[in-house]
Amino acid sequence: EPMLLNGQRLAAEMRGQLAAQIARVRAQGYRAPGLAVILVGDDPASAIYVRNKKRAAQEIGIEPVDAVLPQGSTTEDVLRVVDQFNQDPAIDGILVQMPLPPQIETETVLARVRPDKDVDGLTVTNLGRLTAGEEGLVPCTPKGILRLLEAYDIALAGRRAVVVGRSRLVGLPVALLLMQRQATVTVIHSRTPEPETIARQADILVVAAGKPHLVTEDWIKPGAVVIDVGIHRGDHGLLGDVDRERVWSRVGALSPVPGGVGPMTILELLDNTWTAYRRHEGLSE
Ligand code: NAD
Repeated sequence: EPMLLNGQRLAAEMRGQLAAQIARVRAQGYRAPGLAVILVGDDPASAIYVRNKKRAAQEIGIEPVDAVLPQGSTTEDVLRVVDQFNQDPAIDGILVQMPLPPQIETETVLARVRPDKDVDGLTVTNLGRLTAGEEGLVPCTPKGILRLLEAYDIALAGRRAVVVGRSRLVGLPVALLLMQRQATVTVIHSRTPEPETIARQADILVVAAGKPHLVTEDWIKPGAVVIDVGIHRGDHGLLGDVDRERVWSRVGALSPVPGGVGPMTILELLDNTWTAYRRHEGLSE
C-alpha cells in the first residue's frame, strides 16, 4: 500500500508551532508580524485565495492587512500601494496576488517589492540568492514540497529526481532546491519529447505542469515518490496533475490533491513572514 504524504496534517502541526513562537515573542512585548496582501481586480479564485491566506495568518497571530484595487487599475496605482507597504515598519511581508489584470506590468510590480519583504520569493533578488545558495526568502510551494519530503524521511542525496514544469513559481526553484539536496535533477517541460520515458527514471517525480491528470502509470517507476502540485477545479472537486487512480498501484508514496502541497504552500507563506519578521526585529532564527 503506497504512503500518502499528508500535507494537511503536517501544515497544521507546523502552524501550531509558529503560533506558539509568535505568542512567545508577543508575551515579551514585541509587535505582531504583519502581512500585506494586494489584490487587484475581481477574479473570484484570487479573492478566495486571498481570503484563505489572510485567515491562516490571523489564526497564528500574524496581522493581515489588505489592499483591494479595482480591475481597471494602472501599473502606477499598484506601485503606489507596494511603495506604501515597503515603507511601513509594521509590515514584514508583501504578497501580490497573481494573476494581475492584463494592462498591469507584472514584472515591474514584482520588482518593486522590497526583497526582505518578498514572502513569495519571486523577486529577481531572491531567485538569484536561491540560485547562488545564499540566504533570502524561498518561494513557498517549492519550500513546502521540500519540507514535506523531509518530514516523511524521503532521501534525496544521490537519487534521481524529475521535475515536470519549469515555471518561475514552482518548477525552476524546486529543481534548484532538489539539486542543493544532492539529487540528480532533470527538468522536463512542454517541449520535451517523450516525457514519460524520462519521468519513468525518477525516484522522486514532482509534477507542476498545470495539466489535469497528465501523469498516468506510464510515467511512473515502480515505487517512485510522486508530488502532485497541480490544482484544477473538476465537477467533483479538485483534481491534480496526476491521475491518482491510474498511478496508485505503482507509486511508493503520493501527495494527494487536495491535502498535499496546497496546505504546505500556505504554511510556507506564514513561515516566510515569520522569518522576515525575525530579521526585521533582530531576533535569532
Ligand atoms: P505554469 O503554467 O506557469 O507552468 C507549467 C509548466 O509546465 C511550464 O513550464 C510548461 O512548460 C510545463 N508543461 C506544460 N504542459 C506540459 C506537458 N504536457 N508536459 C510537460 N510539461 C508541461 O504553471 P505553475 O504556476 O508552475 O503551476 C503548475 C500547476 O501547479 C498549476 O496547476 C497550478 O494551479 C498549480 N499550483 C499549485 C500550487 C499549490 O499551492 N499547490 C501553487 C502554485 C501552482
